[in-house]
Amino acid sequence: EAKRAGGARHVRFEAAMRERAARRNDIEMELRQALQGEQLFVVYQPVVGLLPDGVTDHSTGVEALVRWRHPVRGIVPPFEFIGVAEESGLIGALGDFVLERSCRDFVRWRAELGTLAPRLMAVNLSRAQLAQPGWSETVARILRDTGMPERSLQLEVTESLAAQDTDVQQRLHELKALGITLALDDFGTGYSSLASLHLLPVDTVKIDRSFVSQSETSHHHRVLIEATVKVAQSLGMNTVAEGIETPEQAEVVRRLQCDKAQGYLYSRPLESPALVDWLRAG
Ligand code: C2E
Ligand code: MG
Ligand code: MG
Ligand code: MG
Repeated sequence: EAKRAGGARHVRFEAAMRERAARRNDIEMELRQALQGEQLFVVYQPVVGLLPDGVTDHSTGVEALVRWRHPVRGIVPPFEFIGVAEESGLIGALGDFVLERSCRDFVRWRAELGTLAPRLMAVNLSRAQLAQPGWSETVARILRDTGMPERSLQLEVTESLAAQDTDVQQRLHELKALGITLALDDFGTGYSSLASLHLLPVDTVKIDRSFVSQSETSHHHRVLIEATVKVAQSLGMNTVAEGIETPEQAEVVRRLQCDKAQGYLYSRPLESPALVDWLRAG
């Protein structure tokens, strides 16, 4: 009896696994087509500067975020395909596409908007991109081809990616040698800690949304934000609070001396023309 139940469970498990593998294969095949067929595009979320006296600088920067306009499924969010892209090796082409497109857009905004244009553009990196030997040469080529000023490009890496791996550290130093800056994304969600922050060649620490969302109600989370800001400041790094949704959260992170903020309160991620309108509207 028990054996039969176990057997039935096993069959169900296998069916579920087969379904997952099939879905993963579908996504991989379709993603390959998407890369060729111009279904991928980039949206930009403003990062605002928190200046003294409650002033907000709208031209501080943007973060580039990839989107997939699927012919049947509609807009597919990155968490549904970045993993597949990493496992299948498509992430190289995807990452290069995002970097090149966002650099081109950035250079165009500068021509169109002058002083209202964003001053910094952040682009997310995945481990597989850093693992490619000589990838920093690709970055150098894209900077050259697009006319992107290197000091205006910031690449975002996550804690798990940046921690203690000497190969990765070497790659990060190669990138920094190009004159670009690095940010540590989703800080607080991984295993590394404030104590190891000084080991990483990063310029900016992005405090994860989960801390911000609990900052109004939880003293503990406010203390952690405050400690992160203090350590970052002492190491000459600046801080961004992610996922600001309410004026109250903005007030909290401003009081805790975060330098910049990003979240739906200011703007959702926007396609380039809508971003230009948002920047013009100030
Ligand atoms: P991330 O780099 O931490 O990006 C921030 C995510 O938080 C974005 O989700 C953004 O839309 C969302 N967000 C921003 N403000 C708010 C807010 O106020 N409330 C809430 N609830 N969410 C907010 P998105 O675009 O779905 O991206 C998810 C993740 O996918 C990114 O997290 C990043 O890790 C990854 N990703 C996105 N684009 C790329 C890319 O081009 N390359 C790579 N390798 N990863 C990417
Ligand atoms: Mg990011
Ligand atoms: Mg982030
Ligand atoms: Mg995050």
